[in-house]
Amino acid sequence: MADIGVIDTGFRSAVRKLDRAGRMLHVHDRLDPYLEVAAFVKHHDGDRALFFQRVGDHAMPVCANLLACHANILTVFGLDVQGVRAAVERGIHRPLPPRLVDGGPCQDVVVRDGIDLGTMFPVLHHMPGDAGRFFTASVVIARDPETGTRNASFHRLQLLGGNETALKLDLGRHLRLLYGKAQRKAEALPIAVVIGGDLSLAFAAGSMGAHLPLERDELEMASGLRGAPLEVVKCLTVDLEVPAESEIVLEGELLPDRAVIEGPFLEFTGLYAEAGPSPVFRVHAVTHRRQPIYYTVAGGEVRLLRKPLMEAGILRSIRNAVPIVQDVELTPGGLCRFHLVMAVRKERPEDEGLQRNAIFAAIAALKDLDLITVVDNDIDIRDPRAVEWAVAMRFEASRDLILMPGARGHEYVPASEGGIRTKVGIDATVPFGRLDEVRRVPVPPLPREDYATSVGPGAETSHPVFGG
Ligand code: MN
Repeated sequence: MADIGVIDTGFRSAVRKLDRAGRMLHVHDRLDPYLEVAAFVKHHDGDRALFFQRVGDHAMPVCANLLACHANILTVFGLDVQGVRAAVERGIHRPLPPRLVDGGPCQDVVVRDGIDLGTMFPVLHHMPGDAGRFFTASVVIARDPETGTRNASFHRLQLLGGNETALKLDLGRHLRLLYGKAQRKAEALPIAVVIGGDLSLAFAAGSMGAHLPLERDELEMASGLRGAPLEVVKCLTVDLEVPAESEIVLEGELLPDRAVIEGPFLEFTGLYAEAGPSPVFRVHAVTHRRQPIYYTVAGGEVRLLRKPLMEAGILRSIRNAVPIVQDVELTPGGLCRFHLVMAVRKERPEDEGLQRNAIFAAIAALKDLDLITVVDNDIDIRDPRAVEWAVAMRFEASRDLILMPGARGHEYVPASEGGIRTKVGIDATVPFGRLDEVRRVPVPPLPREDYATSVGPGAETSHPVFGG
């Protein structure tokens, strides 16, 4: 593992680093929290981070798209794609206990009475078809009622009025298991919700069971990712810890005996998730920094957080079985979830064919993968045009198309039958030993840069075709 040192992943230092690097767009106009802010954020997805000074009548500024593109991630971490993957791997394999400190700025202001989340915070109404206003950058911290192990995960919270929200619990999520354990004892599950916390926690909370099983603690992964213990403080009303430097913390409990209808909400797939039953979160205390920054996710940010985690996980499990795999890329067009490009290096005749084993190994590693393209390692797998060139020039469907019907995918894909569908493999590699016959010929470099040129009409060119 490359030595990447200690990484400063603090929320405020990330905001400052992005600002200094010219990667923070300050929005001075007053924008409406109903549809307008979220639309602005979505229009700037994949570009600079955003800082809205004025949102509706709220005094609190809103920050978005912090980690919504590679350039931002690079600015915050000071690391390239491989470096960020190495940091995530370090969090998984070399976790560290967080350090408990006596107090922190996240408890500078404490509100226990008259909590009205909708007036206290500029919670956005994102899309016309959404059921209401949602917290979306909310990391939920809880403790397993049986084992005491902590868990942290992203869940959207829909405002219900006053101090209550709905909390979306997808199938298979650890928090759902913890809630079920509390419910069976007819007890509430105490939780703390962090909005604008250390970004190492955001990465850890973006992990899924395949990366970090139930018995593992996401706060320890966050510390390992940073390379130094994350400083946490005790919450005031629940037996949980939160990062000391967090902007906003909501303390309270998931009620065991009340369900509401949550949603619809526009999901990461670009399609509305249907309304469904969800538990109720009752907030007993709100703590925050002085002049807190409200953080919201309205674009592809969580997708990008999960990307290095999933890629590292896929690479690790494929390489055990198929060592010719050099690198993998979950493509943005496939929502960093459904389509994978793999680069392989065939060194010996007996490596031939392993590129197809790798297709199946990838599907085994991440069930959501529906389309896997394998190319030789002369192709830049992060350049979609280069990958498509390889498919155009090196792939023959009658020979190189692999179909695997009736396999399990993600139930959100409307074309599937409840998640069951055919996986597609595209083997765009060249048979062993013949790569040099099908290499893309490079364009020669120009001998100089300072050619005299101009743009018309007819400028400085004497040929009669340009004459009056
Ligand atoms: Mn977990």
